[in-house]
Amino acid sequence: MLAAAPTKYWHRLEDGRVQCDVCPRACKLREGQRGLCFVRAREGDAVVLTTYGRSSGFCVDPIEKKPLNHFLPGSSVLSFGTAGCNLACRFCQNWDISKSREIDTLADAASPAEIASAAERLGCASVAFTYNDPVVFLEYAIDVAAACRARGIKAVAVTAGYVCPEPRAELFAHMDAANVDLKGFTERFYADTCAGHLRPVQETLGCLRHESR
Ligand code: SF4
Repeated sequence: MLAAAPTKYWHRLEDGRVQCDVCPRACKLREGQRGLCFVRAREGDAVVLTTYGRSSGFCVDPIEKKPLNHFLPGSSVLSFGTAGCNLACRFCQNWDISKSREIDTLADAASPAEIASAAERLGCASVAFTYNDPVVFLEYAIDVAAACRARGIKAVAVTAGYVCPEPRAELFAHMDAANVDLKGFTERFYADTCAGHLRPVQETLGCLRHESR
C-alpha cells in the first residue's frame, strides 16, 4: 500500500482544529479525525489524502457510458475510482464504494504512471475518474491526468461538482472533459436528499461553461 499523500487545501483554525478547504463542507478536524468523505484525514497539523495510489477497481467502458456523446465518440475509456464521497445522496448507486469504510475495498495499488500505461496497453483513448467523486482524491486524479497527457491520453471527470473555487480550478485545468451530475434543482432537494447545497454545484457548472477551454 502507498502512504497517505500531503495536500494543500486546508488551514489551521485558532481553536486548534484544521479545516479542509476542498469542498463546501469545510470539515474541521482534530487529530486523528477524518472528514465526511472519509478519505481526507488529519495527520499531525495537516490534512492528508489516505487513498492516493489506491483504486477500488478498473473497467474498460465505451465513452458513451460515462455518458459523453460528443467526446471521442466510439472510443474506449479506462474507468477507475477510489473510495469516499463528499455528498451523502440517499439514492447513490455506488454506495459500497462511495461510503466504504473498509480498506479492503481499496486493495489495488496503482501509481499514475501504471494507470496511464494500462490505458495505453488496453487501447483506451481516455481515463475516467468515476465510481466515486474525484474531488475527494483530486491530488491523485491530477497526477494520473498528467501521466495520461504525457502519453496522449485524455482525462475525464465524472463528478457532482461539489467543490470550492480554488481546488475546482486546479482539478478541471487537468481534465479534457467532464460530466457533472446535477442531482436536483432546489436547495431543498440537495439538503434533504444529498446532505449538501445546490449553489456550489451551480457555480461549478457556470465555471465549466464560461471559463474552461
Ligand atoms: S473534501 Fe472531505 S474532508 Fe474536505 S471538506 Fe469535503 S468532505 Fe470534508
